[in-house]
Amino acid sequence: MPFICVDQVHVARGEAWKQLAQILAGRPNIESSTMVVIVDQHFSENVQESEWMRLPRKSLAVVPPPGEPTTNSIDDLMKGLGEQISEQIPSVVVGIGGGSALDTAKAIANLLTNSGRAADYQGWDLVTRAGIDSIGVPTIPGTGAEASRTCVLINSDTGVKLGMNSNFSVFDEVILDSDLSLTVPRETYFFTAMDSYFHAVELLGGAARNLISDALAREARQYAYDAFTEGDMQSSAAREKLLKASFLAGTAIANGMVGLVHPMSAALSSVLGLGHGLANCIVMRAMSELMETEYNEFRLFMRTQQITLPNLSRELSDKNSVDELVKATLVHRRPLENALGPDFDRRLTHSRLASLFTAMGTD
Ligand code: NAD
Ligand code: ZN
Repeated sequence: MPFICVDQVHVARGEAWKQLAQILAGRPNIESSTMVVIVDQHFSENVQESEWMRLPRKSLAVVPPPGEPTTNSIDDLMKGLGEQISEQIPSVVVGIGGGSALDTAKAIANLLTNSGRAADYQGWDLVTRAGIDSIGVPTIPGTGAEASRTCVLINSDTGVKLGMNSNFSVFDEVILDSDLSLTVPRETYFFTAMDSYFHAVELLGGAARNLISDALAREARQYAYDAFTEGDMQSSAAREKLLKASFLAGTAIANGMVGLVHPMSAALSSVLGLGHGLANCIVMRAMSELMETEYNEFRLFMRTQQITLPNLSRELSDKNSVDELVKATLVHRRPLENALGPDFDRRLTHSRLASLFTAMGTD
């Protein structure tokens, strides 16, 4: 298996817009073709006009709707683009934002060269043609969407959350500017940035391993550990470390697999509607035995950063919800096998999973 990663990474602290303008200026015919910029709402409202002015003349800014991307939201954006760009398909798609804006940009880049609707490509290796040239600029560290080979979409009809997993769902270039994450609200920042820690430790605790992913995940784990334990996680140094952790762990996972936390977290997202980062952290409440070292580290991070988790004891004491959560976890066989072996269901029985979910309600 080849090792999949972003072609070019630009580390440009405080200079993302300048760097983006320089990269685009080097693209052939950029002044005569349209360029699409999928930009998170926060940046569309707060970036100075002078930064936009750096970009090529025919840049078309598109702000995706709030919330996580869905197959319908992507189809709607595609329809809107079709109406605005009549003469030719765009030459570049840029994504600026968190996982939602980055995944939207990757999905649009793929759909511009692969006909049909977003839902047609949810699954593994269904995208058959390379998408439009794409550039990602992450503004919150954590999901690793800037490095991964997927763009996660909620299917508007079935409610199932599934990515366009494909070697064509990788950005061609990424700009890493840790100053962009200064404005992220504290709790959002903690829960999201923790995702990179989980990507790293789940990979390192699993059976599906390779030399490069191991090295990247070890480095990412250390960056995350330092950022969460050495004072304020949003200090200049910590923002830099967490941006590196996000990219490195995202690359590791693109070539590896998650383990125990992500299947239960996905169940919490689909059954209770919790955001990905928060759901991961809620799972950790019940991991004192199965992931003892990581559990203790997670508690240390929470104490140091003075973060608390919401009380979900009402939701998690409802038997029907817990049954649904158990079922929604057990569909993720591959990561569970990665973490616990092929007979994972002997260790993770229905009743054990049910008691784990009940234990996640409160501290
Ligand atoms: P997000 O992109 O949804 O953003 C969360 C909030 O932060 C939004 O309100 C946004 O406007 C705001 N925001 C973003 N940057 C900001 C900044 N610098 N300052 C102030 N506010 C800012 O959150 P996310 O957690 O990064 O992404 C979630 C999505 O990523 C989900 O759809 C999830 O499924 C997906 N995901 C993708 C991958 C992948 O590999 N592609 C991996 C994990 C998760
Ligand atoms: Zn994750």
